[in-house]
Amino acid sequence: MIPLSVPEIGGNAWKYVKECLDTGWVSSSGSFVERFEKKAAERLGAGRAVAVSSGTAAIHIALLLAGVEAGDLVLLPTLTFVATVNPVLYLGARPVFLDSEKNTWGLDADAVRRFIHEHCDDEGGSLVEKESRARVRAILPVHLYGRPAEMDPLLGLAAEYGLKVVEDAAEGLGSTYKGRAAGVLGDLGCLSFNGNKIITTGGGGMILTADPDLADRARYLTTQARDNPVDYHHSEVGYNYRLTNLQAALGVAQLERLDEFVAVRRRNAALYRELLADAPGIEPCPETPASVSNCWIFTILVDEEEYGRGPRQLMELLSEEGIESRPFFHPAHLLPPYRSFPRGPTPVAEELFKKGLCLPSSSNLTTKEVRAVCRAIGRAGR
Ligand SMILES: *Cc1c(COP(=O)(O)O)cnc(C)c1O
Repeated sequence: MIPLSVPEIGGNAWKYVKECLDTGWVSSSGSFVERFEKKAAERLGAGRAVAVSSGTAAIHIALLLAGVEAGDLVLLPTLTFVATVNPVLYLGARPVFLDSEKNTWGLDADAVRRFIHEHCDDEGGSLVEKESRARVRAILPVHLYGRPAEMDPLLGLAAEYGLKVVEDAAEGLGSTYKGRAAGVLGDLGCLSFNGNKIITTGGGGMILTADPDLADRARYLTTQARDNPVDYHHSEVGYNYRLTNLQAALGVAQLERLDEFVAVRRRNAALYRELLADAPGIEPCPETPASVSNCWIFTILVDEEEYGRGPRQLMELLSEEGIESRPFFHPAHLLPPYRSFPRGPTPVAEELFKKGLCLPSSSNLTTKEVRAVCRAIGRAGR
């Protein structure tokens, strides 16, 4: 069985976790939480990092800190995992689903610009949607499958229209854009350490920001908005979103191996590209010039006419050979909970959804296994 993306534990994981168990520091205070935050901030060149219980929680709090309030609009790509979208709804705000850019597959700045020009007014320095008069508050780009979105034009638009940028870097840990780490490019960045991500804490996430005040507020809000450690006094509604020391211990051990994981995934991606280069109807995801992807998930586009089968049929044939693959995320605007929200035209996202397939990409995937996957793809075509 060749799985899609499974954790690669090892290194100091056992030692650090055992240390938590032996000392009894298992919950959300303890030295590993601080160490994990400090190491992550250093590694990524983020001013500050705040560990939280999931990537979804990170996005929720980051949006809140970006000033997103009930009734506001948040501009995001429709082609993403639902965990990008749901926190917008937790805040009572509304997503605006926009198209993907055709090289990086991240949020397309042209689509953002078009939405702003066609549907928004500048009202005393803030951007409002013409019809609803709702305020547009933030842009939420996603580094889909680890490949950095084209950020500069998005950051330019944000600056031009006074919008905050919250980066969903859940899939992009270890990727860089123009030499800077994914996750530190906007006002706030969000990571995930879910089991299938490039490093894992079982479940967990992190908020990154250069602004120490925002980091302090993130810590406060994720710790039940506790005013001080002793007295049960709370001035606001908070959240129980802290990462535990036990999880952070695993996180520190995993982070020590991030470079190794990225190297293996990039090596395998290069081999996939080489072996699939001449496969008719199979288009491996390209490298994008401005960035270095962590190659979290290697993806292909399957042209049904040319290949002889669609991606879902290919997925079933691979599965018969013990190879796990997965279709792309559904564009969110096509899913039942999100159909009523505003959106732009999304032809690129829909095309990617129709053709995309995710291939095995774990950090312990061998070159032999990559070759086996490519041979199976060759056999399954016409
Ligand atoms: C995994 C993921 C998240 C959420 O992370 P969790 O830790 O599972 O809550 C958010 N956005 C994207 C794009 C993801 O892939």
